[in-house]
Amino acid sequence: MLLVVALGVVLILVARNERSANAPAGPPRLGDHWHSLYAIYDCDEFIFDLYPNDVDDQSGIHTHGDGLIHIHPFHTGVTGQFATMGAFMREIEVELTDSTLELPDGTILDESDDACASPDPDSDDAAVAEPGAELRIMRWETLQAEKALAFTDDLSDVRFLGDGQIFVFAFVHPSVDNADIPRPDDAFLRAYLNLPPEDQPLIDDSNEEGPILDGGENEPAEGDLPETSEPAELPEPAEPPEPAEPPEPAAEENSMGNKQSSAAS
Ligand SMILES: [Zn+2]
Ligand SMILES: [Zn+2]
Repeated sequence: MLLVVALGVVLILVARNERSANAPAGPPRLGDHWHSLYAIYDCDEFIFDLYPNDVDDQSGIHTHGDGLIHIHPFHTGVTGQFATMGAFMREIEVELTDSTLELPDGTILDESDDACASPDPDSDDAAVAEPGAELRIMRWETLQAEKALAFTDDLSDVRFLGDGQIFVFAFVHPSVDNADIPRPDDAFLRAYLNLPPEDQPLIDDSNEEGPILDGGENEPAEGDLPETSEPAELPEPAEPPEPAEPPEPAAEENSMGNKQSSAAS
């Protein structure tokens, strides 16, 4: 009898542990509404093409065709550590792997195509001299950050960590230094974040009620959580991280909560 009770206690503890390991933790939370800028850098230049407006928004991490990633999770499947670049790409139905990226026009950038010319074709090092390509995601942690973290693996797990981050999908020759991948023009994101709420929807963002789910149940069952590897861990940056910039002061009057309530009227 005692053994049975003890076994039961152990099973309960195990179940609790598994639950907390799968539970989303930290921001973004339900009710948050962040904006990140993204840009695509192909070998040596930015591609001025944007993913189109996603009208069939199921998760709340998507784009309005404005060059921004809008992060306003509708359910806990995309909060905390599940608010990732993979969640964004799934929502807008764009293919992203560690070696390929689908462009807005549908073409696929593929590392195996060796599409980028060497910046140093006379190098004695064949790996440098030959053409090649590597897909990286660069993440500037804040609007003020000058240097970015670079990710080359587990790109779908790269997280959104705050309002006003900047991302570049960089498809570059493998010998290119991360520091030589330029920071994109952030004027649009700055303007967007600084506008008073009533002026903010450069693209109308007011229909953000979320998808209508059966029975009004807004929280997915645990089994519905997307599979991510090591969800609680941040991917390791490809290079030693630069000292972190101090976090931005919390936004005040431009909170999207204000914006949504005014836009809904
Ligand atoms: Zn939206
Ligand atoms: Zn938005």
